[in-house]
Amino acid sequence: MDCDITVSSEIETLFVDPVGDIRRAVDSALAALDVDAMTDGELATELVRLRRQTDRIESVLTEMSVKARQRGVGLTAGYASTPAWQSWQTGQSRGAVGQIIRAGELVEPLPETGRRWREGEITSTAVALIAAARVPGNDDKLVACEAQFLALAQRRDHKSLRIATQHFAALARADGSRPTNPDGITLSPVGDRTVVSGELHSDTAETVTHALQAFTVKPDDADDSTPAERRAAALVRICELALRFGTDAGGAKPSVSYVVRRAEPGQPAEPTVGMFTGILDPWDRDRILCDCDLSRIVIGPKGETLDVGRATPTWPTAIRKGIVVRDQGCQWPGCEVPAPWCDAHHFVHWEHGGITAVSNGFLLCRRHHTFHHRHPEWKITFDDQRVRVFRPDGRELDRDPWAHLERAA
Ligand SMILES: [Zn+2]
Ligand SMILES: [Zn+2]
Repeated sequence: MDCDITVSSEIETLFVDPVGDIRRAVDSALAALDVDAMTDGELATELVRLRRQTDRIESVLTEMSVKARQRGVGLTAGYASTPAWQSWQTGQSRGAVGQIIRAGELVEPLPETGRRWREGEITSTAVALIAAARVPGNDDKLVACEAQFLALAQRRDHKSLRIATQHFAALARADGSRPTNPDGITLSPVGDRTVVSGELHSDTAETVTHALQAFTVKPDDADDSTPAERRAAALVRICELALRFGTDAGGAKPSVSYVVRRAEPGQPAEPTVGMFTGILDPWDRDRILCDCDLSRIVIGPKGETLDVGRATPTWPTAIRKGIVVRDQGCQWPGCEVPAPWCDAHHFVHWEHGGITAVSNGFLLCRRHHTFHHRHPEWKITFDDQRVRVFRPDGRELDRDPWAHLERAA
């Protein structure tokens, strides 16, 4: 008998169960918690305090998720990846699990950020913002900016932190690296509902947000629908209209409200900022401004609005039609995307004095338009209204894919 008692007490002292401890603490706290009995003042305080504790626990969850992925947890159960297993086990979407892992991985180069998150000094939101600014190959620069980001995070100034981190990512990408997360939208049927979730880069998000805003009906007094409900209705309406006018409806183009800060004389120009989504990626900025409906909002040095322009197309309809009639479709050699799916590219950009005339524009599909703006090492010439494309090594991309065979013969 004696022996049994010794063993079980030894097990008790050896066995550490921190997550179980958290559960027991939460159990007893929740049993004592009576939300209805709280005063408004208590609610205001307790809600924020509880969020802070939730964020602290989240910091540990992200650490566990990263470790689980490193060790391949769930793979033996037949899952393609640990995040797939985690998503299935926790009911969180793959996107949400991806975000958890990105935040967890951030702590490796930025341990101080991890420490303060765990201590409850900064929020999960702040960590997600910093994680979103991470650009491969630029961790040393991110480390150099950590103190600055943490100062904003600690002040709970998430608005400034968002701008600072977006600015960081835009500058980091200006050296040629590409955004890591491609755009994606997922439709997941759950019972008789469908969960729509996704992630867009800020340039595409600018168009989507603009469209949703334009189609969101303003509520009248009798309308008690939420903004989310009205946005959902707007999305359905946009889809109905798009289907009615069909996939051949001409000249789909980004709609951009962009903010220009009038710099003090001698100061460098600031990055271009989309009205809804913040700083535009420098790689996509020129491509978007090539062919879009543009309203320009000019802000003075102190943040005062100096001028709000009307939305005007960068290509007037008649000139765009002229280009469409001439080109019929994407001018990239070998590409057969028809005109309604193409952007009109300014050969000499209008910001650099390029004229808006048929002789200065040609059609490129969105893929090739984006490629052209992101890869300045590929050269395009446009002589006598004919487009020729040259690889970085100077060889021309043949319009006729068999031409090189004939030359070799
Ligand atoms: Zn362009
Ligand atoms: Zn193309």
